Formats: sequence, C-alpha cells, structure tokens
Amino acid sequence: MKPANALLEQTGTTIFTIMSALATQHGAINLGQGFPDTDGPADVVQAAADALLDQRNQYAPLTGLPELRAAVAAANKRFYGLDIDPTGVVITSGATEAITACLMALLNPGDEVVLIEPLYDTYLPVVTLLGATAKLVRLNPPDWALPREELAAAFSPRTKLLLLNSPMNPTGKVFSADELAFISEKLREHDAYAVCDEVYEHLVFRGARHIPLMTLPGMAARTLRIGSAGKTFSLTGWKIGYVSGSPALAALVAKAHQNLTFASAPNLQRAVALGLAKSDAYFAGLADDLQERRDILDAGLRRLGFKTLPADGSYFITADVSGLGYNGDDVAFCRTITEQAGVAAIPVSAFYVGTAPTQYVRFAFCKRPEILHEAVTRLERWLVSQSALA
Ligand code: PMP
Ligand code: GLN
Repeated sequence: MKPANALLEQTGTTIFTIMSALATQHGAINLGQGFPDTDGPADVVQAAADALLDQRNQYAPLTGLPELRAAVAAANKRFYGLDIDPTGVVITSGATEAITACLMALLNPGDEVVLIEPLYDTYLPVVTLLGATAKLVRLNPPDWALPREELAAAFSPRTKLLLLNSPMNPTGKVFSADELAFISEKLREHDAYAVCDEVYEHLVFRGARHIPLMTLPGMAARTLRIGSAGKTFSLTGWKIGYVSGSPALAALVAKAHQNLTFASAPNLQRAVALGLAKSDAYFAGLADDLQERRDILDAGLRRLGFKTLPADGSYFITADVSGLGYNGDDVAFCRTITEQAGVAAIPVSAFYVGTAPTQYVRFAFCKRPEILHEAVTRLERWLVSQSALA
C-alpha cells in the first residue's frame, strides 16, 4: 500500500493520553492530564441539560449561536476593555480546534511561525502539517523569562505569526507587561500576526495579572485570541472554544472551522453563553479556589523535597525532582510514581522538541484538596520505601 501521511505516522500518541491510561491501569491519582475532578457550576450544567430537551438539537450556525458570540464579545469588553464585534467571534469545538483553525486561517506553506518552548502538544504538528516552518524560542527554568535576543533572532521576513500561550502550560508562567510589549514590538516590526492561546485566562493567582496581547497598541487587528469554556467553567469534556479577532480575520477562521467541524453542539453553546454572564464573584472564586489547591500541593511537594517552581496561573505546577535521589529521567520518574506511588504526573520534556531538560515534572492541582493531600501522602510513602531500599 502507498504510505499514508508520514507526518502523522511520526506523531506519537499524546503524553496526556498515555499517562491517563497508565493512571487508570494502576489506580493512580491522576495529577497528569489537566482536568478538574469536580463538575463545573450547577447552573451552567443545568442550562445545558434544559437545552437538550427543548427541541433545538439541529446544527448550530457555522460561526456559533448568536447568543454565545454576543456573550464572548461582551466578556472581551468586561474583562479587558476589548471592543470585539460579535462578527469577530467564531465558536469552535474546544480551543484545540480553535488553534488549528487559526493556524489554517493564517498560514501558507513556506511561512515561518515563532513558537515558544516548552510548548503545548498540538502546536508543532499542526504548523508542520500546514507546510510552515517552526522557529523555536526556548524559555528556561527556573524563572522561564523571555530571552529577548533569541526571540528577536527568531523573526525573519518570512515570519507570518507568533503563537503565544499565556497563562502558559506547562510552566504556569503569566507573561509580564514588559515581555508582552517586547513581543508586540517584534510583531509590528515584522508585520506578523499573533495567535494567542489564552485558555487559562481566568486561572491567574494573586500577584499576577493576565494581559491579553491583543490589548496592546497596534495588536487588535493582527491578533486572534482563543478561550475555552472547558477551563473557564471546569467542564473540560464540553469542548467549546472561542476565537476573538477582527471580523476580517474571523471570517477566515470561520472558513477553516467550516472544513474542520462546521458547527459545535448548540446545547453546550447556550449554556456557555449563560456562564460567561456570571458574576465577577464567580470568576474571582474560580481563581481563589485553584490558588488554594496550588498552595496545598506546593507545600506538600516541598515538604517531601521536590523543588517546585513558581506557578502564577493555569492548572499546573512544575517540580524539579533531581534532589530526590531517583536515578532516571523525568519520563521514567513519572512512570515509576504512577506505578509504585499511585500518583500520575507529566514529564516536562514532553513539551520540548529537541534536547530537553529531564529533571522537571508537571503536576496538575485542579483536584479536590483531600485528593491532593492523599497524593502527597502516597508520594511520601513511596519516597520512604525508596530510601529504605537504598
Ligand atoms: N491550549 C492549552 C495550552 C491547553 O492546556 C489546552 C488543554 N486543555 C488546550 C489548549 C485545549 O483546550 P480545549 O480542551 O478547549 O480543546
Ligand atoms: N490540556 C490538558 C493538559 O495539558 C490536556 C488535554 C488533552 O489531553 N488533550 O493536561
């Protein structure tokens, strides 16, 4: 038989699926794949349930239900002062589809795309499948600061866009106002676009502030900003994402979406519209709650000798495991703790393309406090058993 798509044949199964399967196999607490272990807000879930029963179960409009597009536009104004016309909003099946649709909308074969490592798993395969070339800029632990000279050097006359993830997975980094200003300067200098993966926009902790790149001078017309109801309402299985941009760019994203899925579940869209109108207290509570969980896991891991790095946003905290006396890389470490301690995590090297640091592990803290305490207890038991063996 003729060979199938070689790029896809080379693409491995995502690390999130691998570690979740291993966690299930070993009855491990899953601090790997990022999903909450409780349901989202009851009123939003109820709205979706009601919406299933009112005879509006046929295709939604291609770009999304008008009430959700209006709600996304209103949320842009309310949280960031951004003026987005509802015709500049496209509803997708999760941020995953939104990312691909935005890249499809903007890229031609031969274009260059600036990507920042460590990077989310879908970015590079999609850029490559579209025939574009990735230019990678690497952030380094422990502070994950933006290396400005390297970023500047990654731009060329062929740069079409930069893909920015802030708050960032897996680092928990929230890009600073200064860093964003530098990025926007480069984008304007090279007349390039920005695709901003902001799925963790509302999961930002005290002391940090999420600033959409799109709010910076000169950026509105060249930026596509992506959000996810999965993260904002703790309902990751719903897969409702939204893209905001100028009507001209959104029209191209809509063309891509038309060829990917055409339309997303109308019932869920209606519930998300209700969710986006929730009070400020809801959004503040979401972040506060998560911050408490981060602190529980952070303190527990530190007590056991894990050197955790700052995490200002997202579901994740990174820990340096090199001081624990374990002989093996981050991949082996994550397998071992899943199998032997009963706690799953994600090796951070999975977020790199080339040679990667191998002593960092990502833990998801979007779990109930008692589960986080139990995970720390299990890790402690395992560490004690290891030192007894040594
Ligand atoms: N981008 C980032 C950075 C993520 O961590 C995730 C994971 N959930 C996604 C996109 C995908 O979001 P969704 O579940 O809405 O497709
Ligand atoms: N975004 C989730 C994470 O980083 C995973 C989503 C997925 O499994 N595709 O854990």
